[in-house]
Amino acid sequence: MSSAVWHPFTQHATEPVPPTIVRTEGAYVETCDGKRILDAISSWWVITHGHRHPKIMEAIREATETLDQVIFAGLSHDPAEQLAEVLVDMTPAGLDWVFYSDSGSTSVEVALKMALGFHRNNGFPRSRIVVVEDSYHGDTIGTMSVGARGVFNAAYEPLLFEVDIIPFPAIGHEQKTLDAFERLAREYKAAALIVEPLVLGAGGMLMYPAWVLTELKRIAERSGTLFIADEVMTGWGRTGTMFACEQAGIAPDILCTSKGLTGGSLPLAATLATDAIFRAHYSRDRKKTFFHSSSYTANPIACAAALANVGIWNDEPVAKRVALLSKMQAEKIARFSGDPRFENVRTTGTVAALDLRVGNAGYLAEVGPRLRAFFLERGLLVRPLGNVIYVLPPYCVTSGELDRLYDAIDEAAGLASDIR
Ligand SMILES: *Cc1c(COP(=O)(O)O)cnc(C)c1O
Repeated sequence: MSSAVWHPFTQHATEPVPPTIVRTEGAYVETCDGKRILDAISSWWVITHGHRHPKIMEAIREATETLDQVIFAGLSHDPAEQLAEVLVDMTPAGLDWVFYSDSGSTSVEVALKMALGFHRNNGFPRSRIVVVEDSYHGDTIGTMSVGARGVFNAAYEPLLFEVDIIPFPAIGHEQKTLDAFERLAREYKAAALIVEPLVLGAGGMLMYPAWVLTELKRIAERSGTLFIADEVMTGWGRTGTMFACEQAGIAPDILCTSKGLTGGSLPLAATLATDAIFRAHYSRDRKKTFFHSSSYTANPIACAAALANVGIWNDEPVAKRVALLSKMQAEKIARFSGDPRFENVRTTGTVAALDLRVGNAGYLAEVGPRLRAFFLERGLLVRPLGNVIYVLPPYCVTSGELDRLYDAIDEAAGLASDIR
């Protein structure tokens, strides 16, 4: 069967024809030939409670009875109003304004534009952005600019703007990161620091402790640098708390959320900002308007899905599920600590990761696609980042399913030794 579809992050010359999914439910996706595949990566980190949670599906159906897309400049609607109120309530204190968009990348673009607008409109323009080494913030030109440079964006390098990079706070080297930021903050005035709190996702599920975040915020505050928390991956319980920033006891100036916002059911994003940032754009001078929009800004059906997601957090013991999953992840992956075939065995909340020891590491490591095929044959959707294997499941995953996953990872290590 031929296909006209050009898939994302897919090398069509070498990768097999992807299975067609005809049904999703809970922790599983089901192929057209009836194979059930355990979604161990929450369909690229978006699914939180499980696929097709009945309350979210019902909310979507219900919303379509009265609304579809409505222009969001000059008009408003209840789902967006209610959701904004809820988001302000549940995010760290001081984030009082909600700006909607439709993907993680756009929520970060919005954050960067807000930061520059803030300084400019206040009469002290600043334009440099400080970023953490190995970060990922999206695939648009702006978000690639603030993310790690590499094979993914080499072709677009001429379009990317310059940023200042501070080292990843590796265990035992955290002070280097803080010193680098301190130096940058002292030397010149940066507009903003953008960070993925606690876990750097696409950079390889790199984890660092909450106190580093607390210190970075302190330095940012002292130097008038805005602190942008990109919680697109870490939000909605992924790291053990609703938002990762909570573990550091900090309130960012800007917070980006997307992936889990609708429980993973529909595309939607929000960038939350402090009143100071809103005020900088609030003026009788229309030049100070925040000039940004996407066609599908605040899609009412997506907002209804997000409200249903919040309802699930309120009405079901989701926090307990997250705590239990976090505990299971830590216990089950522990069998590989000290195992010479692996290194950097780690967890933060519900996210677990480990690095396969291979000769050729990195995203293009030979082992990546082979591992993917190996897991898929066993009915497991696992998508290693090069030699980094991670398990980031929906919160409905069971202990038995996790055991199956970790047994397969154990077996997969043999595959790596073949390649070596
Ligand atoms: C996935 C991700 C993004 C980009 O989100 P999209 O919806 O894919 O555009 C941005 N930041 C982080 C931390 C992410 O994990």
